[in-house]
Amino acid sequence: MVDDPHDTDDSEAAGVRAFWQALGLPGLFDAHVHFLPPNIQRAVYAVFDAAGPKIGREWPIRYRQSHEERVGLLRAMGVRRFPTLPYAHKPGVATYLNDWAADFKRHVPESLWSATFFPEEQAASYVGAALGAGVEVFKVHLQVGEFHLDDPLLDEVWGQLEDAGTPVVVHAGSGPVGNEFTGPESTRRLLARFPRLTLVLAHMGAPECAEFLGLAEAHERVFLDTTMVFTDFFPPYPAELVPRLRDLSHWVLLGSDFPTIPYPYLHQLEGLARLDLGDDWLRAVCWENGARVFGVPADGVGH
Ligand SMILES: [Zn+2]
Repeated sequence: MVDDPHDTDDSEAAGVRAFWQALGLPGLFDAHVHFLPPNIQRAVYAVFDAAGPKIGREWPIRYRQSHEERVGLLRAMGVRRFPTLPYAHKPGVATYLNDWAADFKRHVPESLWSATFFPEEQAASYVGAALGAGVEVFKVHLQVGEFHLDDPLLDEVWGQLEDAGTPVVVHAGSGPVGNEFTGPESTRRLLARFPRLTLVLAHMGAPECAEFLGLAEAHERVFLDTTMVFTDFFPPYPAELVPRLRDLSHWVLLGSDFPTIPYPYLHQLEGLARLDLGDDWLRAVCWENGARVFGVPADGVGH
């Protein structure tokens, strides 16, 4: 164990700042961060701690501080914009999660106002209200939620989201453990019907990396986030796909999965750097693409 957690935080933050400062960036734009209501956050930690069949391996979560401390650490590291990405595991809880996320946004103005939805009768109503109120990003998680992306109960929602252009972070890949709902098929079917949707495919779609990369290549508004991929903790990204990531430099977004990660935040950045795709690629992925897709506040970088 460390002697003094604050010393660790300070040197960790300094290491992350050095990374983006060397690139001449104003900070980091992380498209995949979670903040959840405390009771839900505890339940999520417990699922990972148990390393049960939905996780499939040891997963010692590194960041378990209070919300306030985690926001402080992101600010110290220079992660200037980040979402909170709630996701529902059953019907009837999305509005609770969304209310909490709206409150978080009020307290942490540089965060991206996040919300979720679930295939249920009321979905179009609360998604419409969320869009009207100014929600900036939605999240859905097929492994946890156990639904297909093109569930008929979501038809109206996808129409609303396509018209609004608001990004949806989709965990559709079969990592860490797949089930009958994961994999690229429902994303492919969805995009065939709603080709103008703005989707951010989490974890580069791992382990179905080639299939999800192909979807991003084929759709102007479909992006990939790097979340946990390229780290030592994840299976290696297929080497034959890496040259295609260079061509897709404007469609790859930095994502980390902070706080639910078993290694220091900096390790995600090291994983991107060692792809050796160049500083322009890193600048696009770590700041410019996020700023373009989600926008930045009028003062440039918020806090
Ligand atoms: Zn996540």
